[in-house]
Amino acid sequence: MLQYCLLRRYRFLLRQHAQVIKRCYSGDIRNIGILAHIDAGKTTTTERMLFYAGKTRSLGEVHRGNTVTDYLAQERERGITICSSAVTFNWNGKRINLLDTPGHIDFTMEVEQSLYAVDGVIVVLDGTAGVEAQTVTVWTQADKHKLPRLVFVNKMDRPDANFEKCIVDLTEKLDAKPICTQYPTKSADGQLGIFDVITMEQMTWQQNDLGRNYSKVKLESSTELQEKRNELIDQLSGLDDELADVVISTESFDKVSNELIGQALRRATCQQKVVPVLLGSAYKNIGIQPLMDAVNAYLPMPEERNQMYDCFGNDFAGKVFKIVHDKQRGPLTLVRLLRGELKRGMRLLCSARGQAEVVSKIYEPLADEYREVGSMQAGDVAICAGLKSTVTGDLLTSSHTSLKNAQKRLLQSRGAAMPQDEDEVLDDASHELFSIEPKIPDAVYFCSIEPPSISSQTAMEQALKQLQREDPSLRVSYDSVTGQTVLGGMGELHMDIIKSRMLSEYKIDVDLGPLQIAYKETLGSSAITTLSVDKDIAGSKQSVSITLQLVSDQRELFSLDKSPENVQHLNALRPRILGVLRKGAVSALERGPRVGGQVVDTQIRLHNVTVGRGTADSFVMAAAAQCVQKLLITSGTRLLEPIMAIQIVAPNERISGIMADLSRRRALIRDVTSKGDRNKIILVNAPLAELSGYSSALRTISSGTASMTMQPCGFSEMNTADESLAVRRAQGLD
Ligand code: GDP
Ligand code: MG
Repeated sequence: MLQYCLLRRYRFLLRQHAQVIKRCYSGDIRNIGILAHIDAGKTTTTERMLFYAGKTRSLGEVHRGNTVTDYLAQERERGITICSSAVTFNWNGKRINLLDTPGHIDFTMEVEQSLYAVDGVIVVLDGTAGVEAQTVTVWTQADKHKLPRLVFVNKMDRPDANFEKCIVDLTEKLDAKPICTQYPTKSADGQLGIFDVITMEQMTWQQNDLGRNYSKVKLESSTELQEKRNELIDQLSGLDDELADVVISTESFDKVSNELIGQALRRATCQQKVVPVLLGSAYKNIGIQPLMDAVNAYLPMPEERNQMYDCFGNDFAGKVFKIVHDKQRGPLTLVRLLRGELKRGMRLLCSARGQAEVVSKIYEPLADEYREVGSMQAGDVAICAGLKSTVTGDLLTSSHTSLKNAQKRLLQSRGAAMPQDEDEVLDDASHELFSIEPKIPDAVYFCSIEPPSISSQTAMEQALKQLQREDPSLRVSYDSVTGQTVLGGMGELHMDIIKSRMLSEYKIDVDLGPLQIAYKETLGSSAITTLSVDKDIAGSKQSVSITLQLVSDQRELFSLDKSPENVQHLNALRPRILGVLRKGAVSALERGPRVGGQVVDTQIRLHNVTVGRGTADSFVMAAAAQCVQKLLITSGTRLLEPIMAIQIVAPNERISGIMADLSRRRALIRDVTSKGDRNKIILVNAPLAELSGYSSALRTISSGTASMTMQPCGFSEMNTADESLAVRRAQGLD
């Protein structure tokens, strides 16, 4: 008995010890994203971090095309980042997992996905441009995910850089509370240096060793710096009670220690009350080490976030946030480990579809060079090989039992009573907790895609399938009228990237047709008709008579007429016939008669059908499709055009010019509000068709003072004149 007790005690201690180790370990991880407007310097900053952390031996440069994170050849050629890649490095005893993210509007979905996996972000500003259009977009996204953030004001080496303007922009355009922990300074020879406000030191970088070493000189006697430090403490103590208590009890700012300020700044940053601002020049190798120090010091540890997954205890839970294709290793799944441990060879259950899969290999990420490891712990980001059916957004768990237990614990912790019908309510809970599948935006542009020869059609389709798993915002369909494969997507760059990737990764040189706006069509007026077809095919008589009606309806695609004269007959219909009939009829909605757009908000109602003996299913299907096509032509369709929601921030004196231009673009002004004393925010919806080249037009109208973001926000009807113009354009007549 005594032995048994001792053994249990020993086991208990061991377990506790293991937990302590695990906790420390996860506390030593930072999962961060890096967000910015295009060209602000994300990639250059990432390269510098990797270099100083010892992960790379030489400095990659964007313009030379040898950076680690822009690893797709396509990105290297263009010098921009398209696929966010994960990179891991160690800095001062902490492990930083960093996701580089794309900055172009066509790829906002990618940014969105990677934000599920991070606990904090660095927002890079171009010191010469301040807050730009895409900065506003990514900032809003980070808000949505409640992510603590740091701001790095880059390009401060340039003579036209303006640190103060960036701070004003942060307050006025983003409603942020910036806390400047640094200020720029110039040394005697004109070199950029940095004042650290908290430690009151001046930092200077030596250029002869690629910025690896930098000196720190204390400037205790500087009254200017002293004032800035006091100001910082004053700002912070207004937001942090602990710091306020210290200030009150010591009755002086001078006696507040650097540690206390750091802790208060960390708390306020993690609670998203403030944003610490740092500066430097990634290109000139200045200010990167303090930036990494700030990541360690102020951004949250994994265990401080995602508390809702505590219900898994020590069981494994992970979230798939990206799938990439690797030439040698095939599809790789990037998983954020939320709880427990992931081991090589482990069986994982995909909770949404109940499928089980085995992780054959686990890699630690370093852009496209991956290092294989045996296991990884909660808090980290793992790259898994061997998962074939998982898609982005899936929650992975170790077993069905573990998932069920987690759900029960979650319900209990929320004080919900255990349900009678356990399965049903657990499903509801799991839906709430685990369904974070990203919403896939509707395509707003489309174009045809053609293989170089008929023989490569299958290879092209396979390649497109894989590309779609990686990028769900790419739509692929087949147009049976023209016999072409059609790509739907978010913009010109999006399609171009697909074309280049087909060539570089799959060696298929596809041709893209002209880019067209993806209109939808909707029913003009309700209509009903009967179609009877009789044919002799290879000696067998085929005959169908079918009565269908089209009505406007947003909920159901297909229904049976409920009137007394039809209901009995329809109820006696064989399910197989009903199935093929439905399939044929619904397929006809894929292409409307006006411009071949998808027909939406339309319901097909079956009134009657008689099928002759021995008639083939395919014949019934074709007849149903034909009947719907006939109805669409007789009733006519209206076009629906894609609408973009635009947010513009501009100085007051520019507003009237911007509005005048917008009204010429058929824009609907939704709201105009003041932002600070000098700026206004305009919210408008405008048709995509009127927005080609809008960002450069806005730049001209506002002399570069306005910033803008744009995203698709549904489809809407157009007036007859605009409609016929659109039809002429779609038919290539205009
Ligand atoms: P990204 O689009 O945000 O990834 O930006 P990149 O890192 O690709 O940088 C865009 C351009 O700005 C490149 O030509 C860089 O060399 C340049 N650049 C980046 N950082 C700095 C900097 O600190 N100072 C200057 N002068 N140029 C920079
Ligand atoms: Mg880049």
